Amino acid sequence: MATATDTAPTRWTAQWKELYDEVIESGLCTGCAGCVIACPHDVIGYEHEEKHYKPFHLEEELGPENCIHGEKGCTSCTRACPRFRMWETQADEHLFGRIREPDEMWGVARQLLLCRASDEMIHDVGQDGGFVGAMLIWLLEHDYIDAALTSFLDGDPAAQESSWKARPGIARTRDEIIASAGSRYTYSANTLAMKQALDEGLDRLALVGMSCQSSVPPIMWARKVGKISKPFVFNIGLLCSKTFDDAIFAELFEAKYGLKRGEMVKMNIKGVFQIWMRDGSYHEVDLKECHAWTREGCVLCPDFAAEHADISTGGIGEDNDWTLCVVRTELGEEVMNRMVADGSVVARPAETDEKAMKLLRLLSVVSRRRWPKTADPAPAIGVPAPKKKKAAAPAP
Ligand SMILES: Cc1cc2nc3c(=O)[nH]c(=O)nc-3n(C[C@H](O)[C@H](O)[C@H](O)COP(=O)(O)OP(=O)(O)OC[C@H]3O[C@@H](n4cnc5c(N)ncnc54)[C@H](O)[C@@H]3O)c2cc1C
Ligand code: SF4
Ligand code: SF4
Repeated sequence: MATATDTAPTRWTAQWKELYDEVIESGLCTGCAGCVIACPHDVIGYEHEEKHYKPFHLEEELGPENCIHGEKGCTSCTRACPRFRMWETQADEHLFGRIREPDEMWGVARQLLLCRASDEMIHDVGQDGGFVGAMLIWLLEHDYIDAALTSFLDGDPAAQESSWKARPGIARTRDEIIASAGSRYTYSANTLAMKQALDEGLDRLALVGMSCQSSVPPIMWARKVGKISKPFVFNIGLLCSKTFDDAIFAELFEAKYGLKRGEMVKMNIKGVFQIWMRDGSYHEVDLKECHAWTREGCVLCPDFAAEHADISTGGIGEDNDWTLCVVRTELGEEVMNRMVADGSVVARPAETDEKAMKLLRLLSVVSRRRWPKTADPAPAIGVPAPKKKKAAAPAP
């Protein structure tokens, strides 16, 4: 069996210059901010704002595309980047001791379950089954973690004002986990909350993040980035096809449909963009209309299923109120088994929901097809060619 290390370079020398050229300029950069938190010289900037969500170099000496510390041997940014070169195979090997088989479209998995929080309140505030919230609370209460890097809305997190501006933040308590529950479909680079967590002395952290972010800890461990990778002790992935730029609120939802962001109370994506308003009304926006606001960092992303998380979670399937859970690692399995055994969550085999299983495969294939041929081929291996459209019947 081929392994990533067969061809891995013996000495890692790649620095910001290579990252800029091969990931940022080539369009592979997702904006996950792994490089930002890994930089020991703090020379990588990041604007967590509309039309940005990309790293840039802060020092002027060698211009935006090169780094003086890199020239002197610093390689932390490329060691932390889950889109640099052989990221998929290196993270696979580190986590699972093997590379995914070509037909493992959603990555390596031990268990596939549909879960829901047993606590009705946690279930209600959750996006789907409230599983992520329930698991974070369980991890805190069972002393696995000190806090979670997760996402809040701008304003007072406890009040959950409807600004719909997603921000990375730290959930240290049950109340903060509840305040951060639910999904926002704009980007939140939750990794960015790491520095504040460390300043607060919190050094056993769960990371909650979309697929791109959940490959950050494993690639850091695989490439031995060092100290900054140690606080990640649990990795929760969110299945993800894309995020939208924040401009979608003003330029589409409000301009075309009169839906003001401050009045929105919940949103979801189930074939259409679903929006619930404070006045009790419910609206659907065709996803085709939303495509123009797809965030740049998502356009080439091949990972729908958060393939490098301990447990990946999503909301596909027959029922809206269950979370599909892909349990991948030994640690993920240990926590899942304990949560089921003590009744914190209710679980059933995901195979009981044919629709969920079909969608998991289909959406994983669709994302993998986006990966460009110019990059390392691994993420596209095994992906079936798109079916040819039938020619239109000749007019009678
Ligand atoms: C941008 C985005 C796209 C998604 N796309 C899909 C998809 O295509 N198909 C699918 O099946 N599932 C998708 N999901 C996952 C799904 O929406 C739920 O997050 C998942 O099923 C877990 O539900 P839950 O009820 O268990 O989580 P909850 O208990 O509600 O917890 C959700 C967690 O996600 C965090 N979070 C919310 N929004 C963001 C954000 N923007 N960035 C980072 N963290 C965030 C919250 O802070 C919270 O910790 C997506 C999620 C997001 C955020
Ligand atoms: S993908 Fe993430 S780690 Fe890589 S360059 Fe972009 S922000 Fe940095
Ligand atoms: S599609 Fe989702 S996982 Fe991929 S880059 Fe965009 S936000 Fe990240």
